[in-house]
Amino acid sequence: MNLLEVEGLSVTYRSDRGEVRAVDHVSFALQPGRCLGIVGESGSGKTQTCLAIAGLLPREARVSGSIRLRGRELVGAARADYDTLRGKQLAMVFQDPMTALTPHLTVGSQLCEVLAVHEGMRGAAARRRAIEIMERVRIPDPQRRFDMYPFELSGGMRQRVMIALALILRPALVLADEPTTALDVTVQAEIIATFRAVIEHTGTALLLVTHDLGVVAGVCDEVMVMYAGRSVEQAPVAPLFATPAHPYTRALLGCLPRADRPRGERMVAIPGQPPDLAALPAGCAFAPRCPQLVDRCRREAPVLAVLAGDPSPPAAAADVRTVACWQAGAGS
Ligand code: ADP
Ligand code: MG
Repeated sequence: MNLLEVEGLSVTYRSDRGEVRAVDHVSFALQPGRCLGIVGESGSGKTQTCLAIAGLLPREARVSGSIRLRGRELVGAARADYDTLRGKQLAMVFQDPMTALTPHLTVGSQLCEVLAVHEGMRGAAARRRAIEIMERVRIPDPQRRFDMYPFELSGGMRQRVMIALALILRPALVLADEPTTALDVTVQAEIIATFRAVIEHTGTALLLVTHDLGVVAGVCDEVMVMYAGRSVEQAPVAPLFATPAHPYTRALLGCLPRADRPRGERMVAIPGQPPDLAALPAGCAFAPRCPQLVDRCRREAPVLAVLAGDPSPPAAAADVRTVACWQAGAGS
């Protein structure tokens, strides 16, 4: 049973240079307790996809397609409907905890506030629940940190508090948009491991946006690779890493983090320019940068289709691999 079903989701904006499709007919499904990673360069539509699901797009965004959470349609839902979902059904973890934490309230009072508002829980019971979630996200010495203010904590600890806030109501779905990007590599890895442990414990489903394929390998079950607002490849993690089918996925894998490269240089150099969404080419959006280009790629945009001649065919229907490339399966 799918918890989340996204079908043909598009998010468009009008600009003075014409219509911009930030998200273009994206479809995927997510089961309870599973983690789907969305990867792609900056500007590929990852955040817009999350915001669409969370009901947080700006007013000028036009959304079409379908987003069903436990069978309930969210496209076109009113803000008030979202208010009833937020916290219990759906929670979001952002990149920068300082924007999401309230600076003048202690960690403990912020966690307890959520329990008071959503569950009417107060006093010693709320304190116990708050300490318990702090332990679960591996905040050391939680009794002491309960009374601290966000500025008294390190960046990594603040991010753990954010995750605790998102998880304290045991939501069905967590959307995490580059939750560890601002942190150093060791802390990132620890936090991602924590995330994984918590979703396995609670059965929460996690949609994890990252531009770091190392993070995906460590925590996700499935991956969706986005380019210019479109999904260009979807697969379970192991076969995607073993035999990436799309030339863009292969290019991203060439950019895997390496210990010998300084931080911040990890997404260097896929040759060529990222696409201009207001002036996409007629055929495949990746064609101008693609090393495997054929004539057809410039004329006709490839559609996402089941990978032909999958070198590692899936055992279950849910694990089927799809790729949007005319050359996929044609040998690489
Ligand atoms: P990512 O998270 O993958 O880096 P985003 O989802 O933030 O990318 O953005 C995808 C694209 O959506 C942007 O490059 C931009 O062209 C477009 N976009 C986002 N917000 C707006 C907006 N308010 N108005 C017009 N275009 C927007
Ligand atoms: Mg983003």
